[in-house]
Amino acid sequence: MPRPFIAGNWKMHKTIGEALRFADTLARRFPPPQERDIVIAAPFTALESLGRALRGSAIELSAQNMHWEEQGAFTGEVSARMILETGCRFVIVGHSERRRYFGEKNREINLRVRAALKAGLRPILCVGETLEERGDKKTFRVVRKQVKEGLNNLKPDDIRHAIVAYEPVWAIGTGKTAAPAQAQEVHRFIRQMTAEFFGKEAAEALTILYGGSVNPGNIRQLMAEPDINGVLAGGASLDVDTFSKIIRF
Ligand code: PEP
Repeated sequence: MPRPFIAGNWKMHKTIGEALRFADTLARRFPPPQERDIVIAAPFTALESLGRALRGSAIELSAQNMHWEEQGAFTGEVSARMILETGCRFVIVGHSERRRYFGEKNREINLRVRAALKAGLRPILCVGETLEERGDKKTFRVVRKQVKEGLNNLKPDDIRHAIVAYEPVWAIGTGKTAAPAQAQEVHRFIRQMTAEFFGKEAAEALTILYGGSVNPGNIRQLMAEPDINGVLAGGASLDVDTFSKIIRF
């Protein structure tokens, strides 16, 4: 069973100075060694400074997106190698905001997952249904397609390095959290699917996160579920005291 994994997705928030002040406080509060993974997904602009400031600390870094090509004429994009160079070990891929506002599709998301793994970055693949899809009882169908296509062409060994985040779109930034049992049901489904495609051992090693209005008041109940290995917090990761409470849950 993977160890607890607590990640914060800052989205388009924090200048370099703000990011460094936050990181300094967090690193002092959680010195190494820690029994859980603590990860901040910061904007590209802050990654290099954070990478230097957090070297040797218990706080790890993630990017929020990447391109799948190694280099080339792709204005505005960054590659896995560029991200790795900043000190990042993780990259969020296929966040629902990327799918919704930037038209990202499962096929390109899968190219990102594969390019990240090839370069040595651990992808955090985000999946989840919209409110309408849940209302139409399509949750499992939608999640199955996103996971199947997102992890397409991976080998069982890759699954140890990949992370899946179940983030129901209706729970992101809305204050509505999935009930722990509701989240567990989908997490179990994702683990069963992974076992079907990659074998039981790989499925048991897979880290599956829950995301969607996680806060200090609901994390403990979510983490009590057997297939929830960690969380990806958005809004609640922006304040260092609130995020610290989530880490300590
Ligand atoms: C997210 O964007 O990944 C997220 C889970 O956001 P929030 O916690 O604000 O719902």
